[in-house]
Formats: sequence, C-alpha cells, structure tokens
Amino acid sequence: MKITMLGTGAALPDPDRGQSAILLTLDDDTHYLFDCGEGATRQMVRANVDPAKVGFVFLTHLHHDHICDYPYFVISSWMLNKTGAPLVLGPKGTRHFVDHLFENGAYHTDYQARSAYPVRQANLEAMRPEVREVSPGPVFDDGRVRISVDWVEHIPRDVCECFGVRVEAEGKVIAFSGDTAPCEAMVRLAQDADLLIHECTFPESFIAHRAKTGVGTYAHTSPTDLGIIASRAGVKSLVATHFGHFDSTSPVIKRAAAKHLPVELMGPHLMDEIVADIRKNYTGPLRLAHDLMRIDL
Ligand SMILES: [Zn+2]
Repeated sequence: MKITMLGTGAALPDPDRGQSAILLTLDDDTHYLFDCGEGATRQMVRANVDPAKVGFVFLTHLHHDHICDYPYFVISSWMLNKTGAPLVLGPKGTRHFVDHLFENGAYHTDYQARSAYPVRQANLEAMRPEVREVSPGPVFDDGRVRISVDWVEHIPRDVCECFGVRVEAEGKVIAFSGDTAPCEAMVRLAQDADLLIHECTFPESFIAHRAKTGVGTYAHTSPTDLGIIASRAGVKSLVATHFGHFDSTSPVIKRAAAKHLPVELMGPHLMDEIVADIRKNYTGPLRLAHDLMRIDL
C-alpha cells in the first residue's frame, strides 16, 4: 500500500502546505481518505488520483482544517462522474455537517442548477453520502481494511469528539492521531504500529511562548512528548505532521499571527529543533511530512 500526505499544515492559509488530509491507497488501487482539509481534492489530482475513485472518508474531528475541503471533494467527485454514494465516518455532528451542504443546504443553489443537467442526474447518489457517526472501538471492516478508533484529547468532548485511528490493511498497521494533546489512547492505538502519523503542531519554543503570553489555546503534542509516545508505543516508523505554520516564511502569516505566535522565531530552521526534540526519546525511523509526500508500506 501507499500513503500520500495530501495536506500537512494546520488551521491558517499556508502557501506551502495544505490542511490535514491523508490518502491510503491499497495495492488494488482502493482509496481511503482520512480528513479532508483545504486543498485535499486538488492534491489528489496532483497525486494522480481521481477524486471520483475515493469512496471512503473518515473525519477525525470537525475543526475546519480537517473538513473544509469536503464539500468541494463531493461536488468534484459528482462532476467527475463518481458512481455510488460516498461513505463518511466521523464523530457526532458529522451527519449535521454532511446533511446541510447540498440538497437544502449551503450549496443548494449549485446543486439545483447542476442537477438540472441530464448528465448530472445520472449519478445523483454521489451527492447523497452515507454517514456513520462512530464511537470508540472497531468502526469499519470491508474485508481489506479494518479500522478502530478511540477518543483523543483536543476539543472538549461535549463540543466535538476527536478521534485517533488505528488502521490494519495488507498485514500492516498504521495509526493516525488526528489532533491531540499527548494521551494514553494514542499510545494504545499506535501499539507496535508499522507507521505512526502523529500531529506535531508547534516546536517547544513556540509552546513556551504561548504558555508565557497566555495567548491562544493549546491542545496539541510537543515534539518531546511525541518522541515519548512513539517510543512507548514501540512504533516501527514515525511521520510528524500538522505543522502549525512555524516553518513558514510568508509575510502574510507572520503579520496575521503576531498576536498568538512568536513570529520573530518562525522559519524552516525550526524543523531541526523539532527533530532534535523528538530524538530525545525516539530513535527509530523519522520523517517530517510535506505535502504530497509518499510513504510505501
Ligand atoms: Zn487541526
């Protein structure tokens, strides 16, 4: 199988990174999408994947940087002649999000206009996803891919559940954190995984700045803690992702983020700090994700 990191950034518009989206592709070319942040659909096309061929979507939580490309993905799939309804798994609230987009939803006018064309009527089911709101435990098994999930710690659970994921396919195990502070659930989900893809939103120097200034909220995993998690779980390889723009050189981001980030510290050199801090506790194979990075397993 292969994994394509479609988007590796966080919540702000970033000229160098799309938002969270990971595509798992089996050897028989079946695709499974995990999160659908900004740019996910376009990145599929750049990775030579037809969005209409992606029939499975798992949303780890409902923050915009994990779901905002979803409407575009569904409409694009429809226009690219997708057949069948997409299957969408996610936390409580996923049904509300999905059901208020197209027919009688935010894109109702577009839907009404386009569905008048006979060619678009042929596959209206592509606009009517099947939604399953999931709970901790096994959530999916199609005979090729098995998925189990657990709650991770990112947003208060009464606002939105956030899930970490364990995927078993082709004899391999992949774990994905979604967004989370360090938590035991993620150590369990990643136990002995061949690959752990884990968020690593800010370097230690940013976290210290945010703690000192009291600006912004913090429910992410530091590189030092990520090394501990990877080591305790005994993962065979680690990919850090969901980078919170600290490596950006964009003047727009620097100006806009000055209130909640130490923008004078920003730059690509911070990736070295990330690696050094992960390495304090984890010595196995390590990669820092970038958009369209491909991982063969
Ligand atoms: Zn996020």
